Amino acid sequence: MAQSKKRNPGIYVLIFHLSRDVPVAVGRLGELDFQTGWYGYVGSGKSGVKARVRRHLRSHNRPHWHLDYLLPLGQPTAAVIGYTDDSLECPLARRLEQRCQVIPRFGSSDCRCPGHLFHSSRQASLEDAAVQGMTALGCTPLPIPVDWNWDPTII
Ligand SMILES: [Zn+2]
Repeated sequence: MAQSKKRNPGIYVLIFHLSRDVPVAVGRLGELDFQTGWYGYVGSGKSGVKARVRRHLRSHNRPHWHLDYLLPLGQPTAAVIGYTDDSLECPLARRLEQRCQVIPRFGSSDCRCPGHLFHSSRQASLEDAAVQGMTALGCTPLPIPVDWNWDPTII
């Protein structure tokens, strides 16, 4: 079907839970201590936002993004997706920064944001911040449950 072949670029916040405190070697950032709790990662997929989220949720041999080092130790639960042609990834990260604790330099190697990963003791805080941040940026938020090997063709 033609509809499913469209690129559908956009932004997303991928939300996952870490059930224990854990040190993780994150590429060139070195070893960071991650606290138990909820995390939200802000990213974008210029050639398809659902495809990018799915890429995170599949196992891979070689880490590419900072998130690839951390996510396998956690449990993904939800994603908030917003379709847009505009470059709203960094503006969205700045919105979350106002409400959640930023993990410095995580996911922001290619931009000037303090970081693109956020921590909270509550999942709802991250999801609300994602929904309200996208809405404020003129991008309709679509919250969806996800799990490992999530199949984006079902939404
Ligand atoms: Zn940024």
